[in-house]
Amino acid sequence: MKYEHIQQEAFEANMQLPKLELVLFTFGNVSAADRSLGVFAIKPSGVAYNDLSPAKMVIVDFEGKTVEGNLRPSSDTLTHAVLYKQWENVGGIAHTHSTYATAWAQSQREIPIYGTTHADYCTVDIPCAAPMEDEKIKGNYEYETGFQIIRCFENKKIDPAEVEMMLVGNHAPFTWGKNAAKAVHNSAVLEYIAKMAFITEGINPAAQRMKEALIKKHFERKHGPDSYYGQ
Ligand SMILES: [Zn+2]
Repeated sequence: MKYEHIQQEAFEANMQLPKLELVLFTFGNVSAADRSLGVFAIKPSGVAYNDLSPAKMVIVDFEGKTVEGNLRPSSDTLTHAVLYKQWENVGGIAHTHSTYATAWAQSQREIPIYGTTHADYCTVDIPCAAPMEDEKIKGNYEYETGFQIIRCFENKKIDPAEVEMMLVGNHAPFTWGKNAAKAVHNSAVLEYIAKMAFITEGINPAAQRMKEALIKKHFERKHGPDSYYGQ
């Protein structure tokens, strides 16, 4: 009973993935955390979206240990656990293999900030973590994926509270936010940005990154202390 709220939140967020056309079959997973309880609810592994229910969401602690639930949690659970443990402000995490974002990840390319849509969400190119070293692939792969993401942000000196989306090289995107719904929202935005950047380079292979002044203006319009976007 005490986990129902995050099971419901995780269930609703997971159901958004097929609706937003961000997943094929069972690819992808979303989790929702309750930091006061030190746990998160995550999609069970390999269960079709149509067969999901709130009660099927597995409760896991930030070490990756299952606390409640009869089903095996998503195979990416340890990646979620590492991110929750290391990044204290994250309340929800989403992972998809959405087409365009994954294509950039497979190309091992950051997504250049070409326009204001991108700048409304973050002020830098969407980071792409370098592929994992062989030793780590042979070790605890999903756990290491979490640290691969964290190291990427540390190396680039990017604050995960400011940039809530990234690509894991040769793999796919991860996004997060204050809750699971925001994490899914960011997955959809990332896919949209990735698609537009791809088209931009098709139209003009020499397209330039946006000017810093314009990047700053757009981000602050939406997020700064004097923001005036929305109601
Ligand atoms: Zn994946």
